Parts: sequence; C-alpha cells; structure tokens
Amino acid sequence: GSTIGILGGGQLGRMLALAAARLGLRVRIYDPDPRAPAGDVAFHDPARWDDADALRRFARACDAITYEWENVPPRALDVVEEVHALRPSRRAIDVSADRLSEKTFLNEIGLATAPFAPVGDAASLEAGMAAVGTPAILKTRRLGYDGKGQVAVNAPADAGPALAKMSGAPAILEARIDFSSEISVIAARGADGATAAFDPGLNVHEDGILRTTTVPAPVPASVRQDAVLLAARMLDALDYVGVLGVEFFVTPGAGLIVNEIAPRVHNSGHWTQAGCAVDQFEQHVRAVAGWPLGDGRRHADVVMENLLGDEVLRAEALANEPGVQLHLYGKAEPRPGRKMGHVNRVTNRA
Ligand code: ATP
Ligand code: MG
Ligand code: MG
Repeated sequence: GSTIGILGGGQLGRMLALAAARLGLRVRIYDPDPRAPAGDVAFHDPARWDDADALRRFARACDAITYEWENVPPRALDVVEEVHALRPSRRAIDVSADRLSEKTFLNEIGLATAPFAPVGDAASLEAGMAAVGTPAILKTRRLGYDGKGQVAVNAPADAGPALAKMSGAPAILEARIDFSSEISVIAARGADGATAAFDPGLNVHEDGILRTTTVPAPVPASVRQDAVLLAARMLDALDYVGVLGVEFFVTPGAGLIVNEIAPRVHNSGHWTQAGCAVDQFEQHVRAVAGWPLGDGRRHADVVMENLLGDEVLRAEALANEPGVQLHLYGKAEPRPGRKMGHVNRVTNRA
C-alpha cells in the first residue's frame, strides 16, 4: 500500500487520516506538537518545522505529501518539495497564505473580492481608508483564523487603535461587505484534471468563528451554481490537486464576492461526512493518492454544528440523541472558542 504524508496534525489531519485508513492507505503526520490530534490515529514522530533532516526523512517515507494547514513555514515546504511535489500545488499554498496575494490572484482571474488595500503603517492605513471607505475591517495578512487578528475600522478615529492591534504585522484593509448570507463551496480536482464540487452550504458565524453549516443553502439554485463554477475556475488556475474550500458573501447587488479560500479540507465541509457517499476527507485523499474522484452528490439535508470550548461537555447528551453523528477531536483542554468537535444532524433524506 502507499503512504500519504500530512503536514500539520490538527483535527483536519486527523479526519484525513481516518478517511485514508478506510481506503487501506497508511498515513504519516508531521507536526511539532506531541499531542497533535492526528497523532492519535496515524504514525506521528514529532519534529520541528526547522528540522530539515526530519522533514527529509518524513518525505522519503511517504509516496505523496499534502497539508492540512496553509501556514506551514515556506522553508519546510522547500525541503519537502526536494522529494515530492506538494498536493495541492505550492502555488496554492503560497497564494492563500497571505490575504493580499490571495485577493490579488482572485481579481486576476476575474473574481470579485471586497475592495482592499495593503497596510503597513499610519500613512498606508489613511490611504487605504480613502480608497476602500468605511466601514472596513483591518486584518493581519498572515496567520489569522476564527476571526483572530481582525479589527473593525468604522470611522477615521478607529485607525490608530486598529493599527496598534496589528502589532506591526503586515495588514490588509477590507471594505465591510453588506452581505445577505455567507455560503461556501468545497471543490475538488483530481490529478487527471477532473473537477467536482459538493453542494454549497450556508455558514453562520459567531464572533468570527463558524457556528453552523446548513445544506442545502437557502439561496437560489443559480447562485449555488455560480459558486461552484467560480470555485472550478480557481482550481484550474492553480493546477490544483485536492480539496479547496471557498467562502463567499452573497450580496443583493453585487452577486457573489469571494471572502477567502483555504487550500485544504474545510470546517464548512464537515457536513459531507453525513450527507455524501464520499466526504470531503476521502475526496482529498483520493486526489492526493492519484485515485479518481468519488461520488460527492448530496443524499441528505444536513446541519453541522461546531462544539466550541466547554460545549464539548454536551457530548454525552448528544451521543444519546437520535440522528446525531458525533465527532470529537481528542483535544485535552477546552479553551474558550476552541474547536473540540462537531455534530452532523441529518434533517431530511433525499
Ligand atoms: P476562518 O479562516 O476561520 O474562516 P478568518 O480569521 O480567516 O476565519 P474571515 O473569514 O476573514 O476570518 O472572517 C471571519 C468572518 O468575519 C467572516 O466569515 C464574516 O462573517 C466576517 N467578515 C470578514 N471579512 C468581512 C468583510 N470584508 N465584510 C463583512 N464581513 C466580513
Ligand atoms: Mg481564514
Ligand atoms: Mg473565513
């Protein structure tokens, strides 16, 4: 059998490893954290991102390499790439690791984003506010997730404090989009260039963190189809292999605006575990291993709900509820807002 290497050992890596195991594949995890969630379910010998020898040994022990985290240090990717091409491509991870290069790429291939401007100091923030207008959001260009590293700029007076919150990190100012809803598409492209997409889901966020995803998304069929076509355009432009998550704002006036992309399986695609014969994790593993893409048609209506922080204490009660598919990530400390698990509830079978 062949061995898939996964850079990063969080819950996404864990669920990828479980899907790979089902297909008879072996998995190796690379993550410096000895308690990485994926380490419970796959081979994991913790080593640092700057340990080139360990990275080389890891890559040589694998037949294909993917990642579950877009912030793997570029130098670590360089070392791995001496042994194997990355799946998805290096370009996909480089483009999406930085909000500025990501939006620039999306605009280049003709997709709409929020108006944006790079911000590095008070002068560029002032210029950015003039260009983008208010209300706006100042975000760190790199490493943000779950709404961390973001601050509202609603009026010129907010500029100083907002800039201070960036702590000198390169930032981007985005116009605040007045959306009617948020949807996402989980799309996939195989090594043979075939593409597929799961049905778009409706996403509800709370304090910047995904709360629920609902399928089917209650938006017109034409909007759902548009979202899928736009995602396919990104896959082809990036010569992509694997699963890509694309978050959209649905707007009354301007149609679909891309919020951000993630070059990996995505939290808003967890519903596929209960709604499709082949879920997003298996789909990604298939692509990375060079298999044909599987059948990702939706056979049920599903609501996915994240278990954040202490909400994981509801797990026992949820385990007693009919129709609930429970997923726990094996994390020890339920810090506030931390993703500890999720549930999929099937609301209607097709
Ligand atoms: P994650 O990667 O976990 O999805 P993130 O930290 O990258 O989160 P974003 O997706 O940039 O965060 O923003 C989180 C949420 O904040 C969005 O889903 C949306 O609800 C809101 N938001 C972000 N940017 C904008 C914007 N330009 N206009 C309106 N709302 C926004
Ligand atoms: Mg993000
Ligand atoms: Mg997001």
